Amino acid sequence: MSTGLPSTATMFRRAVVLKCPHCGGRKTFIKHWLARHDRCRTCGIRWHREHGFELGPTALNVVMTFFTLGVGMVVAFVATAPDFKVVPLTLGVVGGAVLVPLILYPFTYTLWLAFDLATHKPDAHELAEAAASLGSRSEVAG
Ligand SMILES: [Zn+2]
Repeated sequence: MSTGLPSTATMFRRAVVLKCPHCGGRKTFIKHWLARHDRCRTCGIRWHREHGFELGPTALNVVMTFFTLGVGMVVAFVATAPDFKVVPLTLGVVGGAVLVPLILYPFTYTLWLAFDLATHKPDAHELAEAAASLGSRSEVAG
């Protein structure tokens, strides 16, 4: 199994700290918190590996947000029982519903890319295209 691909654990470990799951390049995909480069600037692998790729990170973001809000609500209800403070709890959940997806946004992309690379390994054509993109970019930059 010499695909040149790191182990699944390594890819997820890199994704959690916003590194490229494929090469481990630091912040190579992240242009701004809510924007990405099309390719990793270190290894050249594309984010958008197939049609509809964005659906995965979006679904992951929704699941992680609902999980975080659910755990937060349970903790808040248990901590304030039996005298529930409805307005502060509601404002906290609404604020969390806005902030949590924004905070998780870049992480869901790196995590989904790690999952996608682990389950749908890049073929020789994709790796060659990635390497070629680095060559053309360095020619333009240089
Ligand atoms: Zn990379």
